[in-house]
Amino acid sequence: MRTPIIAGNWKLNKTISEAVDLVSQLRLLVEGTNEVEVIVAPTFTALSAVSKTLEGSSISIAAQDLYWEEKGAFTGEVSASLIVDSGCSHVIIGHSERRQYFGETNQSVNWKAKSALNAGLIPIICVGEMLEDREVGKTEQVVKDHLVNGIANLTEEQILNSVVAYEPVWAIGTGKTATPDQAQEVHALIRSVLADTYSSANVADRIRIQYGGSVTPASAAALLSQPDVDGALVGGASLEAESFADIVKAAQQ
Ligand code: PEP
Repeated sequence: MRTPIIAGNWKLNKTISEAVDLVSQLRLLVEGTNEVEVIVAPTFTALSAVSKTLEGSSISIAAQDLYWEEKGAFTGEVSASLIVDSGCSHVIIGHSERRQYFGETNQSVNWKAKSALNAGLIPIICVGEMLEDREVGKTEQVVKDHLVNGIANLTEEQILNSVVAYEPVWAIGTGKTATPDQAQEVHALIRSVLADTYSSANVADRIRIQYGGSVTPASAAALLSQPDVDGALVGGASLEAESFADIVKAAQQ
Protein backbone atom coordinates (compact mmCIF):
# COMPACT_ATOMS: atom_id res chain seq x y z
CA MET A 1 0.00 0.00 0.00
CA ARG A 2 3.00 2.34 0.45
CA THR A 3 4.83 3.03 -2.82
CA PRO A 4 8.56 2.37 -2.31
CA ILE A 5 10.65 5.53 -2.47
CA ILE A 6 14.33 5.45 -3.42
CA ALA A 7 16.31 8.69 -3.20
CA GLY A 8 19.93 9.35 -4.14
CA ASN A 9 21.75 11.91 -2.02
CA TRP A 10 24.70 13.07 -4.09
CA LYS A 11 26.10 15.27 -1.30
CA LEU A 12 29.01 17.47 -2.46
CA ASN A 13 29.67 15.56 -5.68
CA LYS A 14 29.30 16.07 -9.45
CA THR A 15 29.81 19.09 -11.64
CA ILE A 16 26.81 20.26 -13.65
CA SER A 17 27.87 18.27 -16.71
CA GLU A 18 28.59 15.16 -14.61
CA ALA A 19 25.17 15.53 -13.00
CA VAL A 20 23.48 15.79 -16.40
CA ASP A 21 25.35 12.69 -17.62
CA LEU A 22 24.36 10.73 -14.54
CA VAL A 23 20.65 11.48 -14.79
CA SER A 24 20.67 10.93 -18.56
CA GLN A 25 21.96 7.38 -17.95
CA LEU A 26 19.68 6.84 -14.97
CA ARG A 27 16.65 7.88 -16.94
CA LEU A 28 17.28 5.16 -19.50
CA LEU A 29 17.83 2.55 -16.78
CA VAL A 30 14.81 3.26 -14.56
CA GLU A 31 12.23 4.60 -17.01
CA GLY A 32 9.11 2.49 -16.75
CA THR A 33 9.62 1.42 -13.13
CA ASN A 34 6.27 2.86 -12.16
CA GLU A 35 5.85 1.02 -8.89
CA VAL A 36 8.82 2.83 -7.36
CA GLU A 37 9.23 6.56 -6.75
CA VAL A 38 12.75 7.61 -7.74
CA ILE A 39 14.40 10.84 -6.56
CA VAL A 40 17.83 12.37 -7.10
CA ALA A 41 19.31 15.07 -4.87
CA PRO A 42 22.10 16.93 -6.71
CA THR A 43 23.95 19.99 -5.42
CA PHE A 44 22.13 23.33 -5.61
CA THR A 45 24.20 24.42 -8.61
CA ALA A 46 23.11 21.42 -10.69
CA LEU A 47 19.38 21.50 -9.87
CA SER A 48 18.18 23.52 -12.87
CA ALA A 49 20.24 21.57 -15.40
CA VAL A 50 19.13 18.24 -13.92
CA SER A 51 15.55 19.42 -13.95
CA LYS A 52 15.77 20.30 -17.67
CA THR A 53 17.39 16.96 -18.43
CA LEU A 54 14.63 15.08 -16.59
CA GLU A 55 11.73 16.91 -18.25
CA GLY A 56 9.00 14.37 -19.05
CA SER A 57 10.62 11.72 -16.86
CA SER A 58 9.16 10.11 -13.74
CA ILE A 59 12.32 10.83 -11.72
CA SER A 60 11.83 13.58 -9.14
CA ILE A 61 14.40 16.02 -7.82
CA ALA A 62 15.26 16.97 -4.26
CA ALA A 63 17.47 19.68 -2.82
CA GLN A 64 19.80 18.61 -0.01
CA ASP A 65 18.82 21.40 2.39
CA LEU A 66 16.97 24.72 2.53
CA TYR A 67 16.68 27.82 4.68
CA TRP A 68 13.34 28.50 6.32
CA GLU A 69 13.08 32.24 5.62
CA GLU A 70 11.45 33.22 2.34
CA LYS A 71 13.83 36.03 1.28
CA GLY A 72 16.01 38.81 2.64
CA ALA A 73 19.44 39.40 4.13
CA PHE A 74 20.52 35.77 4.58
CA THR A 75 23.72 35.56 2.56
CA GLY A 76 24.41 32.15 1.11
CA GLU A 77 21.03 30.63 1.90
CA VAL A 78 18.41 29.14 -0.44
CA SER A 79 14.68 29.27 0.33
CA ALA A 80 11.95 26.73 -0.33
CA SER A 81 10.42 28.78 -3.15
CA LEU A 82 13.79 29.07 -4.92
CA ILE A 83 14.13 25.31 -4.66
CA VAL A 84 10.68 24.87 -6.20
CA ASP A 85 11.71 27.37 -8.89
CA SER A 86 14.73 25.23 -9.77
CA GLY A 87 12.54 22.20 -10.45
CA CYS A 88 12.44 20.32 -7.15
CA SER A 89 9.50 18.53 -5.58
CA HIS A 90 11.37 17.26 -2.50
CA VAL A 91 14.01 18.44 -0.04
CA ILE A 92 16.21 16.50 2.40
CA ILE A 93 16.11 18.00 5.90
CA GLY A 94 18.16 17.22 9.00
CA HIS A 95 20.74 14.95 7.39
CA SER A 96 23.27 13.86 10.01
CA GLU A 97 26.07 15.65 8.12
CA ARG A 98 24.13 18.89 8.51
CA ARG A 99 23.60 18.14 12.20
CA GLN A 100 27.28 17.24 12.66
CA TYR A 101 29.06 19.94 10.62
CA PHE A 102 26.58 22.79 10.16
CA GLY A 103 24.75 23.18 13.45
CA GLU A 104 21.43 21.67 12.39
CA THR A 105 19.15 21.20 15.39
CA ASN A 106 15.74 19.66 15.92
CA GLN A 107 14.35 23.21 16.03
CA SER A 108 15.87 24.17 12.68
CA VAL A 109 14.67 20.86 11.20
CA ASN A 110 11.15 21.75 12.31
CA TRP A 111 11.31 25.27 10.86
CA LYS A 112 12.70 23.89 7.60
CA ALA A 113 10.02 21.19 7.38
CA LYS A 114 7.24 23.76 7.82
CA SER A 115 8.80 26.11 5.30
CA ALA A 116 9.19 23.28 2.77
CA LEU A 117 5.58 22.13 3.21
CA ASN A 118 4.24 25.68 2.91
CA ALA A 119 6.02 25.98 -0.43
CA GLY A 120 4.62 22.65 -1.65
CA LEU A 121 7.84 20.67 -1.24
CA ILE A 122 7.87 17.18 0.28
CA PRO A 123 10.40 17.09 3.11
CA ILE A 124 12.50 13.96 3.67
CA ILE A 125 13.12 14.34 7.40
CA CYS A 126 16.22 12.48 8.61
CA VAL A 127 16.59 11.00 12.08
CA GLY A 128 19.19 8.65 13.52
CA GLU A 129 21.52 7.82 16.35
CA MET A 130 25.32 8.01 16.57
CA LEU A 131 27.37 4.89 17.34
CA GLU A 132 27.93 6.03 20.95
CA ASP A 133 24.16 6.41 21.41
CA ARG A 134 23.57 2.86 20.20
CA GLU A 135 26.36 1.48 22.35
CA VAL A 136 24.83 2.88 25.53
CA GLY A 137 21.29 1.84 24.59
CA LYS A 138 20.06 5.32 23.66
CA THR A 139 18.93 4.60 20.09
CA GLU A 140 15.23 4.81 20.93
CA GLN A 141 15.63 8.00 22.94
CA VAL A 142 17.64 9.81 20.24
CA VAL A 143 15.42 8.72 17.35
CA LYS A 144 12.27 9.74 19.25
CA ASP A 145 13.83 13.10 20.15
CA HIS A 146 14.77 13.83 16.51
CA LEU A 147 11.36 12.74 15.27
CA VAL A 148 9.02 14.29 17.84
CA ASN A 149 10.80 17.65 17.77
CA GLY A 150 11.47 17.64 14.03
CA ILE A 151 7.79 17.14 13.19
CA ALA A 152 6.37 19.21 16.08
CA ASN A 153 3.04 20.86 15.18
CA LEU A 154 2.89 19.42 11.68
CA THR A 155 -0.74 18.76 10.82
CA GLU A 156 -1.96 15.37 9.64
CA GLU A 157 -2.11 16.67 6.11
CA GLN A 158 1.47 17.93 6.40
CA ILE A 159 2.87 14.71 7.85
CA LEU A 160 1.11 12.74 5.11
CA ASN A 161 3.04 14.91 2.63
CA SER A 162 6.33 14.12 4.36
CA VAL A 163 8.79 11.23 4.30
CA VAL A 164 10.89 10.11 7.27
CA ALA A 165 14.39 8.70 6.73
CA TYR A 166 16.00 6.59 9.43
CA GLU A 167 19.73 7.00 9.03
CA PRO A 168 21.90 5.51 11.77
CA VAL A 169 24.95 7.78 11.69
CA TRP A 170 27.33 4.84 12.21
CA ALA A 171 26.10 3.33 8.94
CA ILE A 172 26.44 6.43 6.75
CA GLY A 173 29.39 6.28 4.37
CA THR A 174 31.05 3.59 6.50
CA GLY A 175 30.11 0.46 4.58
CA LYS A 176 28.45 -0.84 7.78
CA THR A 177 24.82 -1.34 6.84
CA ALA A 178 22.32 -1.92 9.63
CA THR A 179 21.02 -5.46 9.53
CA PRO A 180 17.46 -5.81 8.22
CA ASP A 181 16.35 -6.61 11.79
CA GLN A 182 18.06 -3.55 13.23
CA ALA A 183 16.47 -1.35 10.58
CA GLN A 184 13.02 -2.91 11.06
CA GLU A 185 13.18 -2.44 14.83
CA VAL A 186 13.77 1.31 14.53
CA HIS A 187 11.33 1.74 11.65
CA ALA A 188 8.62 0.06 13.76
CA LEU A 189 9.48 2.42 16.61
CA ILE A 190 9.17 5.43 14.28
CA ARG A 191 5.80 4.22 13.04
CA SER A 192 4.59 3.73 16.61
CA VAL A 193 5.67 7.28 17.54
CA LEU A 194 3.78 8.55 14.48
CA ALA A 195 0.73 6.50 15.53
CA ASP A 196 0.87 8.07 19.02
CA THR A 197 1.24 11.55 17.55
CA TYR A 198 -1.43 11.29 14.86
CA SER A 199 -4.42 9.50 16.23
CA SER A 200 -6.55 9.43 13.06
CA ALA A 201 -6.82 5.97 11.60
CA ASN A 202 -4.18 5.01 9.07
CA VAL A 203 -2.05 8.18 9.22
CA ALA A 204 0.98 6.34 10.61
CA ASP A 205 0.37 3.43 8.24
CA ARG A 206 0.49 5.72 5.22
CA ILE A 207 3.74 7.56 5.99
CA ARG A 208 6.78 6.22 4.19
CA ILE A 209 9.96 5.57 6.16
CA GLN A 210 13.22 5.18 4.25
CA TYR A 211 16.34 3.48 5.54
CA GLY A 212 19.71 5.10 4.82
CA GLY A 213 23.23 3.98 5.62
CA SER A 214 25.58 2.25 3.16
CA VAL A 215 22.74 0.75 1.11
CA THR A 216 24.12 -1.10 -1.92
CA PRO A 217 22.56 -3.27 -4.62
CA ALA A 218 23.66 -6.26 -2.53
CA SER A 219 22.00 -5.15 0.71
CA ALA A 220 18.92 -3.39 -0.68
CA ALA A 221 16.52 -6.29 -1.23
CA ALA A 222 16.79 -7.68 2.31
CA LEU A 223 16.38 -4.23 3.87
CA LEU A 224 13.46 -3.34 1.63
CA SER A 225 11.69 -6.63 2.38
CA GLN A 226 11.18 -5.55 6.00
CA PRO A 227 7.54 -4.61 6.68
CA ASP A 228 8.23 -1.04 7.85
CA VAL A 229 11.07 -0.22 5.44
CA ASP A 230 9.48 1.67 2.57
CA GLY A 231 12.52 2.74 0.65
CA ALA A 232 16.10 3.86 0.84
CA LEU A 233 18.07 7.08 1.06
CA VAL A 234 21.28 6.25 -0.76
CA GLY A 235 24.56 8.16 -0.69
CA GLY A 236 27.64 6.51 -2.24
CA ALA A 237 25.77 3.98 -4.35
CA SER A 238 23.68 6.73 -5.97
CA LEU A 239 26.71 8.30 -7.64
CA GLU A 240 26.74 5.66 -10.38
CA ALA A 241 23.67 5.13 -12.54
CA GLU A 242 23.88 1.34 -12.61
CA SER A 243 24.23 0.76 -8.88
CA PHE A 244 21.45 3.23 -8.11
CA ALA A 245 19.21 1.67 -10.78
CA ASP A 246 19.88 -1.77 -9.28
CA ILE A 247 18.65 -0.49 -5.90
CA VAL A 248 15.53 0.89 -7.60
CA LYS A 249 14.97 -2.52 -9.18
CA ALA A 250 15.39 -4.22 -5.79
CA ALA A 251 12.52 -2.06 -4.52
CA GLN A 252 10.25 -3.43 -7.25
CA GLN A 253 10.49 -7.02 -6.07
C1 PEP B 1 23.35 9.40 3.05
O1 PEP B 1 24.12 10.25 2.71
O2 PEP B 1 22.21 9.71 3.37
C2 PEP B 1 23.80 8.01 3.06
C3 PEP B 1 22.99 7.10 3.53
O3 PEP B 1 25.06 7.74 2.56
P1 PEP B 1 25.69 6.30 2.24
O4 PEP B 1 24.67 5.52 1.46
O5 PEP B 1 26.92 6.58 1.45
O6 PEP B 1 25.97 5.66 3.56
